[in-house]
Amino acid sequence: MELKVKENILAANDALATANRQLLQKHGVTSLNILGSPGSGKTSLLERLLPRLNLASGVIEGDLATAKDAERIRAAGAPVVQINTNGGCHLDARMINQVLPGFDLAGLDLLFIENVGNLVCPAGFDLGETAKIVVLSVAEGLDKPAKYPSTFLKAAVVIINKIDLLPFCGFSLDDLHREIETVNPQAQIFACCSREGAEDGLDKLVNWLEKHIK
Ligand code: MG
Ligand code: ZN
Repeated sequence: MELKVKENILAANDALATANRQLLQKHGVTSLNILGSPGSGKTSLLERLLPRLNLASGVIEGDLATAKDAERIRAAGAPVVQINTNGGCHLDARMINQVLPGFDLAGLDLLFIENVGNLVCPAGFDLGETAKIVVLSVAEGLDKPAKYPSTFLKAAVVIINKIDLLPFCGFSLDDLHREIETVNPQAQIFACCSREGAEDGLDKLVNWLEKHIK
């Protein structure tokens, strides 16, 4: 019985995800669903990327509560809509469907969707995005790709963040690369630091995004 309910929920989600995907494609908008733990640096990465990207970009922010992240994105100069899930631990396609009319889609090249900080269930809900990105900070530890395989398996891109903290982590960047590649050999991997004033490795990511999205 419980299984049946879950199937119905996912079928309803998939129908709305398809509608979102068709709407975004119609307007030539690439959308990236950003997954990662709370504190992995998803919003900080967006703050650093938005002024560097030569692409018209918008952002949907997903959080349980507050508009803190949307305020940061607005300050970075991008159109942004905040979704509060009121306790919900992931975004779903219906929430995205409700906020898409708030964007001038014809004028956008790229729409970032920052999901609720969580390495578990956001991976199970298609939002209609073009691709999923995982942001993993080195401080979370070497074992996260192996422990949360469904999230890492679905990512087209994995961004290793906070590389300035590597000297305190007890493993190397190569070690973490290997852990990610063991779960998902196809993932495109970038390493960067998104901390203001200590930015590192962002140019490669910006170049890759511009090349693949233009
Ligand atoms: Mg955030
Ligand atoms: Zn959830």
